[in-house]
Parts: sequence; C-alpha cells; structure tokens
Amino acid sequence: MANIVVTGSASGIGAATRRLLETPGTTVTGIDLHGAEITADLSSAAGREEACRRTRQSCSAGLDALVLSAGLGPVSGPPEQIVRVNYFGAISMMDSLRELLAAGRNPAAVALCSNSATIVPGIPEEFIAAMLAGDEDDAVKQAATLGGSLAYAGSKLALGRALRRRAPEWAATGICLNGVAPGATDTPLLQAGLADPETGPLIRDFPIPTGGFGKPEQVAAVIAFLLSEDARFCCGSIFFVDGGTDALLRPNSF
Ligand code: NAD
Repeated sequence: MANIVVTGSASGIGAATRRLLETPGTTVTGIDLHGAEITADLSSAAGREEACRRTRQSCSAGLDALVLSAGLGPVSGPPEQIVRVNYFGAISMMDSLRELLAAGRNPAAVALCSNSATIVPGIPEEFIAAMLAGDEDDAVKQAATLGGSLAYAGSKLALGRALRRRAPEWAATGICLNGVAPGATDTPLLQAGLADPETGPLIRDFPIPTGGFGKPEQVAAVIAFLLSEDARFCCGSIFFVDGGTDALLRPNSF
C-alpha cells in the first residue's frame, strides 16, 4: 500500500492531483483548512506541527510521496499570509517529513512553484534571502510593504531555490525532490485573481502561446509523473506547465 500526502487537497490542483493518485493500493491523505483527512492551518507553526504529527500517525510505516500544493494567490489573502503559507508552510512540511519520506518506497516530493517566480520583475533579493535564511518574521515584515504580487512571486521563487538546494542531498538518501511551475490554471485561486479589478485585466492580457488557461488536471498529470518510477532521474528540476508563457518571455534563460 503506497502512502501519499497532498497539502491543499480540498481544491484546484491539489484536488485534481488527489483524484489522479487515488488508485487501488494507494492511500491519499489530504491536509487542508477544511474538507481533508487532516485539518490544519499551515500558516502557523502550531498548525504545521499538528499536520506533521498526524501525518506521522497515519503513515507510521513511511511516506512514499508528498505533494505540497497548499497556497494562496496574489489576491487571496494579506501578503504576510501568502508568505507564511506558500513558503514557510511548504518548506516546513517538506523538512519535517523528510525522515518519514526516507523510510518510504521510492520516495518523492513535488512542490508547487509558479511561473510568476521567473516572470514577475523586481522581486527584491533581500526578501528571498530572508526566506531562505528561515527568518519568517523578517520575510513577513518585508512582504507587508511589497504587496500581494511581489509577495506571491517571491514566495514561489524562494520555494524553487530552496528545493533545488535540497534536492541533491535528498537524492543521496533516495528521495526525488522536484517542482512544477504552473502558469494561469483554472482553479478558485485564478478565479479570485480574475475577479479582482486590478489583477483581473492583467491576467486576461497575459500571453499564453497554447491559448487559454490550463486545467488543474494537466498540472496534476505532471506531478504524477514526477512521483513515478519513470522520473527517478529527475532531481531538483522545476517543470514549467504554463502553456509556453515562460518560453515566450525568456527564451534564452536556459
Ligand atoms: P486553490 O485555491 O484552488 O487551492 C489551494 C488550497 O490550499 C485550498 O484548498 C486552500 O484551502 C489550501 N490552503 C490555503 N491556505 C491554507 C493554509 N493556511 N493551510 C492549509 N491549507 C491552505 O489553488 P490552486 O490554484 O489549486 O493552487 C495550488 C498551488 O498551485 C498553490 O500553491 C498555487 O500558488 C500554485 N499555483 C497555482 C496557479 C494557478 O493559476 N491556479 C499558478 C501557479 C501556481
């Protein structure tokens, strides 16, 4: 029986991933604010601890896969909360469950980054540095002055760097650690952005070469691949699933 944990499992990409992975012989445990096996608020240290404690309880033999999808969009909450959930919530779950993953069968973890990390201009390096140093108070303070868009893009840039820093060492202990960087994907998070009078028009005008928004199932399919045996040679990779926006805007960044 394979044990998989998905954070943010109640909605959007997390829910689509859960549906795809829920096959006979697999137990998927969701972690979310509501509508999940484990109810926990990943914006707080206490909530993260509770989520890990209950995960250890339900997967005592080892964790085979971890998907970190819980997150807030640029307009889904105050900038401080965006950083707490998107960066510190994800990294804390990743690090705290590492030992349990190491005890799993062909273990793998995937974090939800975003193409906004490479596309949004002007993310201050000192903001990224505070997150990578684990200084939540400083990062939250900076986020408050930066606003939602930079807090969001910065949280995803830091998450991508943090996972790439960890991936080689984790691979040496048998854990495949990778990320996906979706573009505009049709979920409640995107709908909230579209409904916002400032960001809505910007999202609608954003170029997507393949045309139209992505579907959560299309991102889930890439996540499922990264958790599979066929992806054992992938390590610290961040896969853009964005209809070609990153390729269009940054063709030479490779
Ligand atoms: P969504 O809003 O549909 O789902 C996010 C889930 O995270 C929700 O179920 C929510 O309850 C949960 N969550 C939020 N705060 C939480 C907290 N404090 N504790 C526990 N759970 C919490 O969003 P989505 O579009 O499916 O996004 C999933 C991930 O993909 C996010 O990390 C997001 O940043 C990333 N992403 C999404 C898009 C997009 O266009 N939809 C693009 C790039 C990246």
